[in-house]
Amino acid sequence: MTGGTRPDGVPAGQPTEDPAYPARTAPDCADLATLDGAVSGCRACPRLVEWRELVASVRRASFASQTYWGRPVPGLGPADARIGVLGLAPAAHGGNRTGRVFTGDRSGDVLFAALYRAGLANQPTSVSADDGLRLVDTRIFAAVRCAPPENKPTPGERDTCAPWLRREVELIAPTLRIVVALGAFAWDAWWPTLSSAYGVVPPRPRPRFAHGALWRGPAGTPALLGCYHVSQQNTFTGRLTDSMLDEVLARAVAIATA
Ligand code: SF4
Repeated sequence: MTGGTRPDGVPAGQPTEDPAYPARTAPDCADLATLDGAVSGCRACPRLVEWRELVASVRRASFASQTYWGRPVPGLGPADARIGVLGLAPAAHGGNRTGRVFTGDRSGDVLFAALYRAGLANQPTSVSADDGLRLVDTRIFAAVRCAPPENKPTPGERDTCAPWLRREVELIAPTLRIVVALGAFAWDAWWPTLSSAYGVVPPRPRPRFAHGALWRGPAGTPALLGCYHVSQQNTFTGRLTDSMLDEVLARAVAIATA
């Protein structure tokens, strides 16, 4: 069984299987709360809907007693954030279980501890949607809002989901100064968002993703800063260390507050 309302009050919107639902609905969302509710009711991608609900139904043995969220996972953080953190998609037993982005898995453990060290969160852990976590000056969101099989959304699913990201960025655009892209997928997802949300033609050739790569666009647009994804694959192998993550976030803070 999947949940309907997260413990922190984000409502599940009216479910719809219309593939045009994000493109039709997102532009009309006047604030983040409305957007979060609309996102959570989206069923536009049949493959992802089937997967997220299957995972929520079968569950992992260690979470067998829990009720999974099993829906799209909205963004997290204040509407006047200056820093955006853009991820790929929720994890099957992390965000798809808890209903909060990056919450309940090892990737999130690494990310939230780093945000806390950087002064961007009020506590170093994020374990459930009602654990009291507050982000400071930071909004976290994902390019795709449903957990995909093997963490790999298709290009079509990415494009179908893009209107949610676009609207979220539009709503925080007045304060947004920098976006930290976690991994190449997020980095690549930023360019169409830059175009649709800011009306800026992305550079050609597109700047390539690299850890520490920084791109600055025209005045009035946020900078883009690359960071290896906080996946276990990167953190367990030492490709991404805590100190590397600390350096990226310190740089993001410096740019956002300059
Ligand atoms: S991935 Fe995005 S567009 Fe597709 S069902 Fe989930 S929220 Fe809707």
